Amino acid sequence: MKCRKFTNSKKNYCEFPITFGNLRFPTKGVCWLIAALLLIPLAVAHETPEHTEEFIPAAAQYSFTPWQVVLYAGALLLVLLFVAWCCQQKMSEGQKKALFLAIVIVTIVPTAYLVYTTVHLNVVSATAGPVHWHADYEVWICGQEMSIEKPAGVVNRIGSPLVHDHGDNRIHIEGVLRSRQEASLGAFFHAIGGALESSEVIVPTHEGLVAKDNGDLCDGAPGKLYVFVNGKQIQDPADYVIAPHETVPPGDTVKIVFTSEAAEQINPYTKQFGRERAI
Ligand SMILES: [Zn+2]
Repeated sequence: MKCRKFTNSKKNYCEFPITFGNLRFPTKGVCWLIAALLLIPLAVAHETPEHTEEFIPAAAQYSFTPWQVVLYAGALLLVLLFVAWCCQQKMSEGQKKALFLAIVIVTIVPTAYLVYTTVHLNVVSATAGPVHWHADYEVWICGQEMSIEKPAGVVNRIGSPLVHDHGDNRIHIEGVLRSRQEASLGAFFHAIGGALESSEVIVPTHEGLVAKDNGDLCDGAPGKLYVFVNGKQIQDPADYVIAPHETVPPGDTVKIVFTSEAAEQINPYTKQFGRERAI
């Protein structure tokens, strides 16, 4: 097969040229184009940092996510470049200009869109751009540690793209916060399908929701809800905004305990850090 040259001579086409109307495309070129198009998602996926997919929904107020823009514009650009490569000789001057203009537009418009949405998101956010904060947490009810519902499926999280858990007893805040309250314990429990108030906790476990209100019984005795952050009891857990750190520590460790034990008998520290850490 001779595919190196593209001329009007039929000899130089591949054995099975693909034709659209009176345009003929060399088979090899079409194969390359298809291969390139198929490779785009792979290349994009490969260069995607671990959590990037989760930053996208923070920009959900826009019609297209950044990855969609890159993907569609890239594919369109490839098609245009391919047309330019294979059909230029058959084009009139007007068609060439139109093609050139199309290539310029397909390059400039998506770039401008990405710049605009990025700047706009940062301007409206409470955090001057996307954040990636974590806090570890445990929930203990009547002496038993709750096994929070494990995420399933491709998305692999429970909660929202912005506020979620990957089944790792960790609060993940990932994306652009329009208000800091979006990174509160209350927002987190709401996102995972539970609730956290001063006197009530509802936890989604793999056996369903477990709910406890102050006064509910633990082994026959009325229990009470305590929430500790880094070993210190806090009073308004729903409004507590987790510390802005990607790693733990210095990120927060949160222990939520519903118990009939006396306050001084409760270990306020998470398993990971233990009581000895605070001394
Ligand atoms: Zn994370």
